[in-house]
Amino acid sequence: MDEILIQATGLTKHFPVTRGLIFSKQVGAVKAVDGVDFNIIKGQTFGLVGESGCGKTTTARLLLLLEKITSGAVLFEGQDISEFSKSDLKQYRSQVQAVFQDPYSSLSPRMRIEDIIGEPLVVNTSLSRKERRNRVAETLEVVGLKAEHISRYPHEFSGGQRQRIAVARGLALNPKLIILDEPVSALDVSIGAQIMNLLKDIQQQYNLSYLLIAHDLAVVKHMSNLIGVMYLGKLVETADSEEIYSNPLHPYTKALYSAALPSHPDVKSEEIILIGEVPSPLNPPVGCRFHPRCSEAFSKCSQEVPVLQEVSPQHLVACHLHTL
Ligand code: SF4
Repeated sequence: MDEILIQATGLTKHFPVTRGLIFSKQVGAVKAVDGVDFNIIKGQTFGLVGESGCGKTTTARLLLLLEKITSGAVLFEGQDISEFSKSDLKQYRSQVQAVFQDPYSSLSPRMRIEDIIGEPLVVNTSLSRKERRNRVAETLEVVGLKAEHISRYPHEFSGGQRQRIAVARGLALNPKLIILDEPVSALDVSIGAQIMNLLKDIQQQYNLSYLLIAHDLAVVKHMSNLIGVMYLGKLVETADSEEIYSNPLHPYTKALYSAALPSHPDVKSEEIILIGEVPSPLNPPVGCRFHPRCSEAFSKCSQEVPVLQEVSPQHLVACHLHTL
């Protein structure tokens, strides 16, 4: 039976838009994340996909406590994080780590590897310097680097090795969840594939959960158990990775996948071209937010918001075509 690590319910982040310098007044809100529900299962990967600006990174930042939740809740092992005490929050922060896109800028060039990986241990544990050194050396070996690399600086490593160092830093506190925000998009394809395989191995070894954000749908498919597709702050479809790939139901998902992943190299599928730009999250379209760009839209679509509903086991879609 799957155990839920993170449960997000109605997760919402609106950024207020104000006018006036001295007597500033709120004149609107950017609805970056707008009532999103999802679960992250222990030992599994939840992949989030969608065009840039759809709310994936804000969702990740909410889980990392880098943004304040406007409404909704995040439950961590069944406990509402908004009710956490200071020490619970400290514990949560050590249990939820992140690896970001750019291994060139995410590692301080003036710090030795020992200090880069060991920094979270200084902040969150009472390990002695020697114990920290041992832990850093051990973590370096887990990510395929050598313990003797501990005294080097980031510039002495290649891009792939630096991303291994970033993974080691994420692992140092023995977390339960790592948020992977475009972890291989700055790397060559073959190096990126090695990092992804490393992350998969580490996941199995430590029963880690991942929230994976990536624009490369092949990478997301390879890594994820469940995939959620976001559009303008809302989840429009979630399903098992294989199911969403072979049987996408939401017109937006179909368009995304038709452009990126042919169902089979020998099968010529027609690419669905998305018309128009993504509308502003400051003033999203009424009804289904996708309706101005949807080739299958009908009258109800501009009037009623489609709700994410289960259409088959574990396959949920928010589209009036499927939830009549
Ligand atoms: Fe298209 Fe209507 Fe479905 Fe939205 S609800 S995706 S506009 S068919």
